[in-house]
Order: sequence, then C-alpha cells, then structure tokens
Amino acid sequence: NPIVAVVGRPNVGKSTLFNRIAGERISIVEDTPGVTRDRIYAHAEWLGKNFSLIDTGGIEMSDQPLLTQIRQQAEVAIDEADVIILVTDIENGVTDADEQVARILYRSDKPVILAVNKVDNPERRSDVYDFYSLGLGEPYPVSGVHGVGVGDLLDAVINHFPETADNDDDKTIHFSFIGRPNVGKSSLVNALLGEHRVIVSDVAGTTRDAINTSFTADDGRQFTMVDTAGIRKKGKIYENTERYSLMRSMRAIDDSDVVLVVLNAEEGLRELDKHIAGYAHEAGKAVIIVVNKWDTIPNKDHRTMTDFTNLIRHEFQYLSYAPIIFVSAKTKQRLNQLPKMVEEAYDHARFRVQSSVLNDVLMDALAANPTPTQNGRRLRVYYATQVAVQPPTFVIFVNDPDLMHFSYERYLENQIRQSFDFSGTPIHLIKRKR
Ligand code: GDP
Repeated sequence: NPIVAVVGRPNVGKSTLFNRIAGERISIVEDTPGVTRDRIYAHAEWLGKNFSLIDTGGIEMSDQPLLTQIRQQAEVAIDEADVIILVTDIENGVTDADEQVARILYRSDKPVILAVNKVDNPERRSDVYDFYSLGLGEPYPVSGVHGVGVGDLLDAVINHFPETADNDDDKTIHFSFIGRPNVGKSSLVNALLGEHRVIVSDVAGTTRDAINTSFTADDGRQFTMVDTAGIRKKGKIYENTERYSLMRSMRAIDDSDVVLVVLNAEEGLRELDKHIAGYAHEAGKAVIIVVNKWDTIPNKDHRTMTDFTNLIRHEFQYLSYAPIIFVSAKTKQRLNQLPKMVEEAYDHARFRVQSSVLNDVLMDALAANPTPTQNGRRLRVYYATQVAVQPPTFVIFVNDPDLMHFSYERYLENQIRQSFDFSGTPIHLIKRKR
C-alpha cells in the first residue's frame, strides 16, 4: 500500500484531518498540544485506492524543542511516505514553523500536498492564497471538522501514488520480525540470513527505501523478509521511540503473510508487546511468537519453558493459535526451526476445507452440543462454507445471528480447529441469516 504521511505544527488539526480521511472518528481529539494520540496509523481508501495513513504528530519526540520536533516529523515523513500532506491552518496564517517544514519537504523528492485547515467559513477563503508563499504549489482549503474540501485534497494525494508493479506472481512467503526496540529483531535477522544465500532487493514500485531480503530454504521454499526499518538503518533519534516502532511494526505486519512477534525473555512482557501482537491478530495475519534471548535465563529447568508459555498464553489470550518458540539470536539455539514454522503457518493460513468435510464436522459439533436458546427460540445452524483464506474465513448460515452466543461460536471454532490444522493462523467465522 502507498503510505501517506500527515505533518504539521501542533494544533493545526492533524488528527482531526487524519480521522476524517481514515473515515472513522475513533480517537478523541484533544485541544491540548502534545497530548499523545492513540492512532498514528490507519487504513484509508479514496476512489477505490487503498493506502495507509500515518500521523507523524503522534510520534512523540521526547522533550525536543518545537522546531526540532517538527523537523523530525518531516524526516519521518520523508523516510516513510510516498505522499506527504503538510497541514497548516488559516487561523495562524503562514508561520515560521510552517516555512521551516516546507523548506525541508521541498528539498526531498517526495510529492507534498499543502492543506490549509480550519477554513470553516467561506469568507476566509481569500486568505488561502497567502499559502502560495510556502512554495509548495496550490494550497487546498479544508475543514477537518466539517469534512469540507477533503475530497479535493485526496484527489490530489492519490494522483501522486507511485505506479505499483504487479508482482503477484512470486509465490514467496513474506514474513517479518516485529517487536519493540531491543528485543533482538536485527540480531535475529542477521543470524537467520547468515545461514542462507541472500538476495537483497528493492521493492518494485515504491519510492520508499524499504529493503526486502529474499532467500531460499533447504526445501526450496522461497522467503521474503519484509524490512521493519529500525532494523537496517539505525541511528535516527526517533527510531527508538515506542510510537515509531509501533508504526513501523504496523506497516511490516500489513506487508507480511506471517508475522513473528519477538519477545525478550530477559525483560519479560511489556505493554507495547501486547499492542504490537494485538495489531497482528486484528490484521488477521498468521502469527508465531518468538521468545528471544533465551540464553540469558539462568538455571533453566523443566518448568522454565512451561511457566513462560503459561504467562504468554495468559497475557495474549487472543493469540492462542500462535505457536511459541524459544530461541537465542546469540547462540542460534532453535533458529533453524524458524523457516519451517513460518512455512507451516503460511500453509495453514491458505488452507481450504472442502465444503462436504466442513459440514460433516459442523453436524457432529451440533449433535454433540445442542445450540443455545434465548427467549424460547433456539439457534439453528444450517450449513457452513469457507469463503476466503489468509485468514481462513467461514460463513455459517443460521436462522438468527443474534442467537449465536459468543461461547457457542467459540465452541464451533474449537471444533473446526480440532478437525483441521489451523495452528498459526486466526480463523474468522461470519454468521449469516438464511
Ligand atoms: P532490535 O532493536 O529489536 O533490532 O534489537 P537488536 O537486535 O539490536 O538487539 C538489542 C540488543 O540485544 C543487542 O545488544 C544484541 O546484542 C542483544 N541480543 C539480541 N539477541 C540476543 C540474544 O539472543 N541473546 C542475548 N544475550 N543478547 C541478544
């Protein structure tokens, strides 16, 4: 997906515009400058074109002075995005900070679309011309709050999307290591790639400098490791901030078939681990949990692994399908098992169940455990069919979807999982009234 970054001074209304474009108004817009926003990454669509949207204002840059922060935002946008929206506002007019960012963006090769926000009142439209002075071409007047002008802005944005090369033909399995800073992602990548002949390739059709790496496993299967930057080129200040690593992770997840969530055995589980894993789950990706730095745990006995496994199962209940592996990038313990695990998770995520077999399983499940009733009405389940893969998605036809309790749905999912090997992948059940 093309990436669109939103940059601009605090309080110009970046997150309002962000939410407007993303089409949902989930995050609460605070008027207080510097309030940490929840969403910095979202999927969006305009005229049938899908893209990912990042709000660089949500990546907090510690206690840097305002101008430094804004400069860093612009750098993130230049590094990450295919198209940049610079947001200014009509109330403050053209400010020094706007000029500074404009200058940095102007020097990059990235297309920049200039938005002038808070044009809620048509009388102010003539002031919009002042913004030509930023040298970024036509200013687009918008009102993030009212949604006015956003369509024209997006028309301009999608016009600058890079042509996407069609490389659907490669059957290579895309995977990525994701996790918070310092869990050992780069070390794992290097250790793993050290074992294989590697082809480093630029992603065709993107202007971003993401670098993917391909290799062939012993059994001939092709793998492409999706770069989570912060792995290859470290050193910029923002690359170690949590919000940045979260945003990078989200992007890598989107581009992957199988996501390897890396945890640090030495430090245990943190809140950010859950955020990252949660996103992988919600994106419907196959997931493997990789506990790294296993070498650092002293005096391991037969219970150490079980205890850690139980902790993970407890903290990541929604990931009950994800296999767990304990490794060390340092000693290379069990690293040779990773490609096989990725391959299995991928195959399971793409597995198609024959309808007749699926319905046999369903009928057995219904016979073994009667359907629930509510207000004297009983849930009736007629039949099921698989409609998609990655993740495997099943439509179950019933008399009334409201009668399907969560616990009964859980039961059906478990019955399906017991009959077919879907380890490593979430499965989705969709209830339909027939
Ligand atoms: P990243 O930020 O997730 O990419 O983490 P790095 O790969 O840069 O690793 C962070 C630190 O942990 C470095 O000092 C590594 O040498 C160290 N490290 C990584 N993997 C292991 C491991 O398996 N065992 C030990 N003892 N240290 C590790």
